[in-house]
Amino acid sequence: MGGPIVIDGKGLGDVIDEELKTWVGGVVGGGGRAPGLSVVLVGNDPASEVYVRNKVRRTKAVGMESKEYRLPDTTTQEELLGLLDDLNGDPGVDGILVQLPLPEGMDSEVVINAIDPAKDVDGFHLLNVGMLGTGTGVPLLPCTPNGCMVMLKRTLASLGRKLEGSRAVVVGRSNIVGKPMFNLLLREGATVTVAHSKTKDIESLCREADILVAAVGRPEMVRGDWVKEGAVVIDVGINRIEAEGGKTRLVGDVHYEEAYAKAAAVTPVPGGVGPMTIGMLLVNTVRSYAGREGVECRLSFL
Ligand code: NDP
Repeated sequence: MGGPIVIDGKGLGDVIDEELKTWVGGVVGGGGRAPGLSVVLVGNDPASEVYVRNKVRRTKAVGMESKEYRLPDTTTQEELLGLLDDLNGDPGVDGILVQLPLPEGMDSEVVINAIDPAKDVDGFHLLNVGMLGTGTGVPLLPCTPNGCMVMLKRTLASLGRKLEGSRAVVVGRSNIVGKPMFNLLLREGATVTVAHSKTKDIESLCREADILVAAVGRPEMVRGDWVKEGAVVIDVGINRIEAEGGKTRLVGDVHYEEAYAKAAAVTPVPGGVGPMTIGMLLVNTVRSYAGREGVECRLSFL
């Protein structure tokens, strides 16, 4: 008997990149323009620098156009909105991403909602959020929760189980992970509960979950005895903790070894949800391009 499935987000991310590379190569080889992603970074937050670098690297690796706009933290909101206006009107730009958080003094809601919703590859614009929440139209989906769904569907299929009718618990209710995760699970027919910092007896609630998604930002908060036997556990958390020898290491919101002993499948940290997030960003850019150019784009992993 083998152990549980370790859901390989890194491997799946590589598969996604390969398929996108082939698709983009076909389009460009046929004389078309390459899909274009513009990434805007204001200020010099070190974590944001790393995220932007990784996004740009993977965008270029699949053959897409990647433009970076690095603005000093003295940039005014008006100047930023002016840049977004230009990018909205640029026919060579399919996706626009403003790296969050923005420096103090900027209203991220105003900035995000200034992006053309059809180019909002983060899926944070109110129109995309509203379409997902109401099940209207075809929204661009937020990348991290969408990446979780791709992993979840593949894992459940390999276990011979269905999302429809399953009992799901999402721990965390942020706008970028918890709430859209709720909506994505709900629209697939799961019965979903969202837990948060005010939830009472969260352990018992989690123990009911066939699918447990943790997006909290607290290292190893979800312990083995919170996990139902045979559950599928998706760990969104990325936390840096101190390790031996003055070093640091990354851990999730789930105690991995304890969850591994109970679950049917579990995502590792790192190498689980993280690599899928950028994969879904590239997918959104390609989808936006396909809509704009009127070309078909079928991707096997979606
Ligand atoms: P937020 O800080 O925005 O939200 C955290 C949520 O967790 C809140 O809803 C909060 O509840 C809830 N929470 C906090 N403490 C507890 C507790 N003790 N018990 C129950 N619920 C609690 O975080 P994000 O959603 O942005 O991110 C969550 C984690 O996911 C982080 O570790 C982040 O680094 C990671 N992340 C990973 C990504 C990836 O690509 N893999 C992408 C995005 C995030 P309340 O609302 O009541 O305060």
